[in-house]
Amino acid sequence: RAKARGRGSFHFYQAEMNERVAGQLAIEADLGRALERGEFELHYQPQVDLISGEIVGAEALLRWRHPLRGMIPPKDLITLAEDSGLIVPIGQWVIETACQQSRAWRDAGLTPPRLAVNLSARQFESDDLAEQLAAAIDRAGLGSGALEVELTESLALQDIGRVTAILKKIRAAGVTTAMDDFGTGFSSLAHLLRITVDRIKIDRCFVRDILGDRTAAAVALAVIAMAKSLGVKVIAEGVESEAQLKFLRERGCDEMQGFYFSQPLPGHDFEVLLREARCLSFAAAGAADEED
Ligand code: C2E
Ligand code: MG
Ligand code: MG
Ligand code: MG
Repeated sequence: RAKARGRGSFHFYQAEMNERVAGQLAIEADLGRALERGEFELHYQPQVDLISGEIVGAEALLRWRHPLRGMIPPKDLITLAEDSGLIVPIGQWVIETACQQSRAWRDAGLTPPRLAVNLSARQFESDDLAEQLAAAIDRAGLGSGALEVELTESLALQDIGRVTAILKKIRAAGVTTAMDDFGTGFSSLAHLLRITVDRIKIDRCFVRDILGDRTAAAVALAVIAMAKSLGVKVIAEGVESEAQLKFLRERGCDEMQGFYFSQPLPGHDFEVLLREARCLSFAAAGAADEED
């Protein structure tokens, strides 16, 4: 009986493997068609000033609404897109869509905050990334500071001279830059800091453990101190509790983003937030606390 089960589970395993490979191929083919089929969406997660409580930014996060499989999480999707090279046209769609969304909110009489889009290191392999960004901003009629790009540490592994030249053009187009997931990559700090940014994002893994783990807290504090001495803003990712928020605010962190304030929201819901609650009430409460 054990033998039968063993063989059975082997066959099952084989079948499952084949299914997985087939599923992977199918999903890759689907990804190739997803753009033209209009299956992508951007969701927007507010970024809040830790002193004023104001929504000063929003990160645009890619979502794929697969017709059969439902929402595919970006982690799987981005890896697939990077491996197949599809990240370049998808990334272009993200840039265009974020710019047009900002335009639409302006046309509706709102004052949208800066919108941040994530760039894959692979997008820097094409020579006209800066020109693409500038053109999208132009088409939407946006001014300086309307768009931000989030960079990954893996960018530092590319030809730093080339990357620096592209970033210079990007910043000349009025786009601000942020280093995403800071502290999680493998490049040396000195090398990494040759990439000039306006903002550093403390990775969620340090924020998560900030109250219980001395090492995580030490990393967060070191990042804040370093950012201050470089004259760079610092934002904390993945803030989920008031205690984390207070800790970060008291230590001079400038902004935060996380479920404590809001999940990433579909465009319509983010618009409602902009109309109704542009400012967080925590800040007023916090400020009152500090006065007494
Ligand atoms: P990221 O750029 O670090 O984005 C932040 C991620 O943290 C988002 O996950 C967001 O939903 C999640 N998050 C925010 N606050 C909290 C919190 O309080 N708790 C927890 N547990 N999670 C929180 P998401 O949307 O699943 O995106 C995952 C990653 O996929 C992103 O990490 C980014 O690296 C990548 N990604 C998303 N959209 C794009 C895109 O358009 N282009 C590229 N190249 N990458 C993208
Ligand atoms: Mg990001
Ligand atoms: Mg991040
Ligand atoms: Mg992260």
